Amino acid sequence: MVIDKIKKRNISNDETQNSHSKADIPIGKWVKCDKCKEILYKEDLHNNYSICPNCDYHFRLSSRRRLKQIIDEGTFNEFELNIENVNPLNIKEYSKKIETLREKTGLDEAVKCGTGKIYGEDVVICIMDGNFLMGSMGSVVGEKITYSIEKAIELKLPIIIFSVSGGARMQEGIISLMQMAKTSAAISKLNKAGNLYISVLTDPTYRRSYSKLCKSWRYNTCRTRSNDRICRT
Ligand SMILES: [Zn+2]
Repeated sequence: MVIDKIKKRNISNDETQNSHSKADIPIGKWVKCDKCKEILYKEDLHNNYSICPNCDYHFRLSSRRRLKQIIDEGTFNEFELNIENVNPLNIKEYSKKIETLREKTGLDEAVKCGTGKIYGEDVVICIMDGNFLMGSMGSVVGEKITYSIEKAIELKLPIIIFSVSGGARMQEGIISLMQMAKTSAAISKLNKAGNLYISVLTDPTYRRSYSKLCKSWRYNTCRTRSNDRICRT
């Protein structure tokens, strides 16, 4: 199973054994755990998959980092969709804000979608990124996720969606809310097609957003070792 393989990959990490003494480390390389308040060396934290070795708290991951943890190296092919954001309410500075975020994060939007391999098994994967307007669901995010789901049906591949979202992108008004119907319809099509769908809810994912992507969360959720929750349909 894909999930077992992912777990095995994480558990088999030996780098967690490399700890550093505080006296050896230059200033500016420390980070405070949000939960236990322990001061941690960033490199140790990085090598431990961003999990606090003291209290098991899971720090938030960027889409790039998560992709590196999950997908076999060099196998990710991102879907190239030339879609531009809409600004139906003519919100001042919205377009400029998007441009600034693109430069700052190196992402074109709040989700990365494509195909890749996990231990040699082909999958379609979508990873939302909280660094881009808190992963809010705008028209581009909705379209990219819908396209990925349809691609999974076409290619007869399993799909994994990592959700990180503050909810709908209010700057896009009703267009943003419409993404709910669009992604839900795509998930229904996926269910009918019988593809494996794994929805991973990560911190933070607000209900309005994840209910679109994890239709059966009410019936089948489980808490994993991490803060993430996995639903299978
Ligand atoms: Zn901690």
